[in-house]
Amino acid sequence: AAHTIARDEAVFSLIHEERERQERGLELIASENFTSPQVMEAAGSVLTNKYAEGLPGKRYYGGCEVVDQVEQLAIDRLKDLFGAVWANVQPHSGAQANAAVMLACLQPGDTILGFDLSHGGHLTHGSPVNYSGKLYRPVFYGVEKETGLIDWDKVEEIAIKEQPKMIICGASAYSRDWDYERLRDIADEVGALLLADISHPAGLIAKGLLNDPIPHCHIVTTTTHKTLRGPRGGVIMMGEDFENPWGLKTPKGELRMMSALLDSGVFPGTQGGPLEHIIAAKAVAFGEALSDEYMHYTLQLVKNAHAMAEAFVAKGYNLVSGGTDNHLMLIDLRNKNITGKQAENALVKADITVNKNMVPFDDKSPFVTSGIRVGTPAITTRGLKEGDMARVVDLIDRVLMNHEDEGVLQQVRAEVNSWMKDFPLYR
Ligand code: PLP
Repeated sequence: AAHTIARDEAVFSLIHEERERQERGLELIASENFTSPQVMEAAGSVLTNKYAEGLPGKRYYGGCEVVDQVEQLAIDRLKDLFGAVWANVQPHSGAQANAAVMLACLQPGDTILGFDLSHGGHLTHGSPVNYSGKLYRPVFYGVEKETGLIDWDKVEEIAIKEQPKMIICGASAYSRDWDYERLRDIADEVGALLLADISHPAGLIAKGLLNDPIPHCHIVTTTTHKTLRGPRGGVIMMGEDFENPWGLKTPKGELRMMSALLDSGVFPGTQGGPLEHIIAAKAVAFGEALSDEYMHYTLQLVKNAHAMAEAFVAKGYNLVSGGTDNHLMLIDLRNKNITGKQAENALVKADITVNKNMVPFDDKSPFVTSGIRVGTPAITTRGLKEGDMARVVDLIDRVLMNHEDEGVLQQVRAEVNSWMKDFPLYR
């Protein structure tokens, strides 16, 4: 009787259509990637049926013997991957991970200092349209107009003036590395907690290709689906289980270790039952990320980003900060007479996917924007190498320089589709 309901062709034909779209296109959205078949297998497993509020060994539901082991594997592998001493793998997303941390560590009205959204920061770092900007008092640092870089002395000045309870570093569209050591000095100077949200470059940090926040930041959050190449989700980590020198209390008024506070920020603070199927998929992805093969992947990903940045510069494109240290670049299109929105729309017609993005000191709205953000995580998974990047940039340039010429868009699309046939994804 459980199987008499007809197969849902409406939904599965759409899933098929999406798979075809992913197969035929050039995927350059910096926050996207292609998970392995075994990550998807775990995400689509019977574990979706299980309630498991609580933590491994301390659940509010029976029958958790198996999911306890799954979740413990995810925790242990994540700690291993980043050299963390404590982790919570339950946040449903990056936004949820940040919400749990803020709920655990802040009181409504507390000042938080984050990276300006319009300079590359994330909504959850204090934007007025997000809970973080509504519940707390957000202040921001940004990049310098001339260099496109964050000036750490300026961050210190703002911190001293504003006396934040929390400083948040990390971004969605910053192509340079972070000085976590310097930021920790600033945080100590003003008595703030330092949160690093490494959602974007997490995979590169795990493999030692960028500065390591774990020894310097009190708390580290990340999404699991970007460079890390896992299922959509979030996690929270610490490099040391602090005995709560800030005197932060649980909702019951107890003074606890930071790990206990953060656990309670996730559940019961901001979530109910954890998604154990997704946690299983996270465990699989962390296992993959511990492999030599993934090390090669991250090295290739960075090589590809560098080659792509050089190719853009060679064609006269303005990259914010002039280049990249990581997996992405932000392109300021103002000298090319095309908006971010026009660029995104024209590229989609050629089966090239990017997102429009504000550039620092943008004079256009977030719906129009003056830039696009481009990244190499997905095409590197697909198998493209640094020698292919000039061709990718050439295809993009042809679209942008002829964005109103449907004939050119169709030509580029045909070329993209036939090229991508050489890099099959899931067949
Ligand atoms: N933090 C940063 C820096 C991000 O770039 C993102 C995603 O874009 C998030 C948090 C939010 O992650 P999610 O979309 O999983 O909520």
